[in-house]
Amino acid sequence: MLNRRAFLKTSAAAIPATATLSALDLAAEDAAPNPKPNAAGLATLPEHIAPVTGAVPWQQKIRRVAQSNMTEHDPAVMNVDEWADYWHSTGAQIIFVSVTGILAFYPSKVPFHRHGKYLKDRDFFGECVAAAKKRNMRVVARMSPDLNWGDALAAHPEWAMRNKDGGAQYSTEEPRLFKTCMFSTYMDDYMTAIIREVNSLYDVDCFYTNGWPPIGSLPDCHCAICSKLPPTGTAEYWRVFNDRIFELWQKYDALAKEKKPDSFFFANLGGGVHGSPNLDRLGKLAAWYQADNQGRTYDDAAVWGCSQQGRVCSAIMNGKFAANVTAAYSTGTPGWRNASKNPAEATMWLNETLASGMVPYYHFVGSENGFCEDRRWQKTGRDFLRWTEKHDAHFTTRRSVANIGVVMGQSTQLLYPGPGLKPARRYMHETTQGLYDALLRGRFAFDYVHEDRLDPEQLRRYRALLLPNIAMLSDRQCQQIRDYVKAGGSVMGGFETSLYDENMKPRADFGLADVFGVSRAGDVIGTNGNAYYARIEKPGAAQKHPLLEGFADTNWLAGAQNRVPLKPVDDPLLTVVPGFVRYPPELAYPPQSHTNEPAVVLREMGASRTAWFPGDVERTFWLTGHGDILRLLHNTIRWVTHDERVVRVDGEGFIEMFCWETDPGYAVHLLNYTNPDAQHGWLQGSFRLGPQTVAMKLPERVRVKSVELLKAGTAAQFSFDNQLLHFTVPHVDDYEVAAISVA
Ligand SMILES: [Zn+2]
Repeated sequence: MLNRRAFLKTSAAAIPATATLSALDLAAEDAAPNPKPNAAGLATLPEHIAPVTGAVPWQQKIRRVAQSNMTEHDPAVMNVDEWADYWHSTGAQIIFVSVTGILAFYPSKVPFHRHGKYLKDRDFFGECVAAAKKRNMRVVARMSPDLNWGDALAAHPEWAMRNKDGGAQYSTEEPRLFKTCMFSTYMDDYMTAIIREVNSLYDVDCFYTNGWPPIGSLPDCHCAICSKLPPTGTAEYWRVFNDRIFELWQKYDALAKEKKPDSFFFANLGGGVHGSPNLDRLGKLAAWYQADNQGRTYDDAAVWGCSQQGRVCSAIMNGKFAANVTAAYSTGTPGWRNASKNPAEATMWLNETLASGMVPYYHFVGSENGFCEDRRWQKTGRDFLRWTEKHDAHFTTRRSVANIGVVMGQSTQLLYPGPGLKPARRYMHETTQGLYDALLRGRFAFDYVHEDRLDPEQLRRYRALLLPNIAMLSDRQCQQIRDYVKAGGSVMGGFETSLYDENMKPRADFGLADVFGVSRAGDVIGTNGNAYYARIEKPGAAQKHPLLEGFADTNWLAGAQNRVPLKPVDDPLLTVVPGFVRYPPELAYPPQSHTNEPAVVLREMGASRTAWFPGDVERTFWLTGHGDILRLLHNTIRWVTHDERVVRVDGEGFIEMFCWETDPGYAVHLLNYTNPDAQHGWLQGSFRLGPQTVAMKLPERVRVKSVELLKAGTAAQFSFDNQLLHFTVPHVDDYEVAAISVA
């Protein structure tokens, strides 16, 4: 390792005069070792994409979003000036104000738009809009179409979602509220009347519905309309569901634009890869992606929940506006909607929002006692949002820097029931998280790619595509993947990938059988006790294969929980040792120690490499954390990508890395997940990570002007030689952003 002085000496010629060092930097640099640049396998980055020219829609310039979700009691207790002053002090450019639909916050004349009991004919909404506008904040009119009261139900029984027995469906927390059906005239008549009324009375900038469409599941309604639709949970239902969403979305959007052409409608979304509306279609329609992933819950405990959502947004929005809501209040079960959550947790969620290319949006519920009984959340949010304001240019992203595409498989996420009786959400959730975890631990630069966007234009930028049990693929999608491989792309896939078409109709063999050189030999075999192993064929010779790098002293490796058995192939690298009894231990030995059933199938054709695992390896890694599977996944991803990197970040610790093209140049974001609370509970604090070295190869003619560390507030020393940019981030607390300005 070189120390800083030796480093300066060896690379002084490469350091431009513009790279300055402050006294503070020198102190930090002296303390931190500055290892040699690791340029192994670095590919030259593509030319920067051109900046957007012409008129930019106003929402594209929004960088901070604010919301105090309003309660029925707020008109009696909220200090409107205090509310507006606080949000203005955060630098927020737009604020949500509640119109609702469940309770009117203004003297609405729309039938069944019940006035809150503390409203007393006051125009609370109007006062809030005026206070926000006075402070130059734009206003989102927030509505909730999902619930209404008994008088509306009595007059319009057709508005309710119904159970199989015909009974109305009610809110589980407030039984006086019934659930409205999105296929009913409630959405066509009642909601449109509210939008018209608000537009006629107030100066709002856009309209938003909370509570609709559903975020991560499909409705199950048996009303007169829905009972004529295909059964919920089927591909046919999903199409009808999507058609209805788009019909209503376009209707509301047209109404919003009646007053101001630059107004628009948008709705509550989120759900990550498991979102309910077809995200490919939605991405083309939506002017604003509202990611309602407010915080971690017991069921969804991985710390990267927000940044994963960000990857979904960048896969479908093509650079259009996306914001993720961070709850300042407590998320989880039980939750406290009027109490602050741990500041470290809230801040990490905001960090992830920025790192993954979304706009931070901070949110609290209710304003008791003027402006909240618990005010601790206010400093957390203000400090963060004010800090971002200093660096808006570096957070405005143009395109991600990534060479791996992970196919999202939204249909599979929503409609595939898993190979056994487990509900789909858990099965595919575990699969998704297993691969995500492995990618983070390998510090790979990856994007999500939607299954409906597999066109060559989209795929060309990726060295490899990963297919984590994308069970449902249409013939056309299979052909697109086949074309990608023919054109030199590499693919890793496995288990039930392509075993079903887009309607969940099973195929006799994999749709991608020819691409991977695999053929199904039978039905899924699960684990009853001891899971299967992968035997290393010809140990010694085979261990020189890059897939087996790092494995020694063993003839077999952990396999996976389930597998689709394959027909034999020539010269398999790994073969299946079938599972056997785990208890009693007397019987825990393999009755059949050697088979010719492949445990991985590899192919190489020109630049293209393909790897197929018969087992559900990604999910099994999530369930077990077994190091064999992690190593095998890492080795395989490295092999299919020819060990090519677009950005290298080397150092200790568990981090998530993002790299973006920005207006000034590039931004490398490092999120420090090295924390006992990374997979459960909330962060209580952060644990400082030591030096992280970053290496990138910039396009021809690009010159580096500076590298700033935005969290530390310092300039980083860098070297730039033969287009290779190298610098060290001396330490990372919870988050660091290396902002690279180029000329
Ligand atoms: Zn219905």
